[in-house]
Amino acid sequence: MGENWEIYADWNPWHGCTKVSPGCKYCYVYRQDEMYGSTVASSLARKTGNFNLPIKRRRDKTWKLKSGMLVFTCFTSDFLLQDADEWRSECWQMIKERSDLWFYFFTKRIDRFLQCIPDDWGTGYDNVLVGCTVENQEMADYRLPIFKSLPIKHKSIIVSPIISPVDLSSFLDESIEEVSVGGESGVDARPCNYDWILSLREQCVSHDIPFRFHQTGAKFIKDGRMYRVHRRFQLSQAHKANIDYKINEFFVPEKVKFEWTPDVYHD
Ligand code: SF4
Repeated sequence: MGENWEIYADWNPWHGCTKVSPGCKYCYVYRQDEMYGSTVASSLARKTGNFNLPIKRRRDKTWKLKSGMLVFTCFTSDFLLQDADEWRSECWQMIKERSDLWFYFFTKRIDRFLQCIPDDWGTGYDNVLVGCTVENQEMADYRLPIFKSLPIKHKSIIVSPIISPVDLSSFLDESIEEVSVGGESGVDARPCNYDWILSLREQCVSHDIPFRFHQTGAKFIKDGRMYRVHRRFQLSQAHKANIDYKINEFFVPEKVKFEWTPDVYHD
């Protein structure tokens, strides 16, 4: 599926975020900042040089982001972050102007959604997909009733990083377009148990909701044994499990294909 990369784009209008729940404990934004030796605190949100990316044009005046692309939005922060309130309306304008693109953001702040939408939101912009992120049962029970009540045209549930078993059964109906599950990455990652993944898959299949296992995480427990999975194999190994259900759109492409071997998985 590597050829599909060209339909995806990243748009990070701002960078930096504050931690809100257990899933944030080893946030990859903080880890990346540390790795790159950033001198600015990761909790300090600041606009990036790509703030206007959706409306940037090439020299020949064509859009930099080609029509039809799926734009992963605000993946080095949270689109509903309070510290970004003053910048978000400009983003909505760009999202509206580029109605030929899909914009997909994940949030742990779904409880701020109604404070953050533009006046003409109505029942939702057609080209905006929202993923409500939950990492454990407590967050699922708090965030998902809010999420389900909101006017959003395209809703998905992102169980990531999964840090304990989660039962989504009472939240699954035709309003949810997809459930995507993944383990935690990083040296301090909390383990992801394959049984939790299979249980979520079963819940989705019984409600006929598309299900995706997108990432194993760095510590993966399968058949009672814990494996450490190198970062570059975490997506491909999840895909290799071949347990996705009714996924045929917005596929997370696989860059590297590898067998389930001791070189990839090791204690
Ligand atoms: S909400 Fe997301 S980006 Fe923000 S601290 Fe938590 S994990 Fe990191």
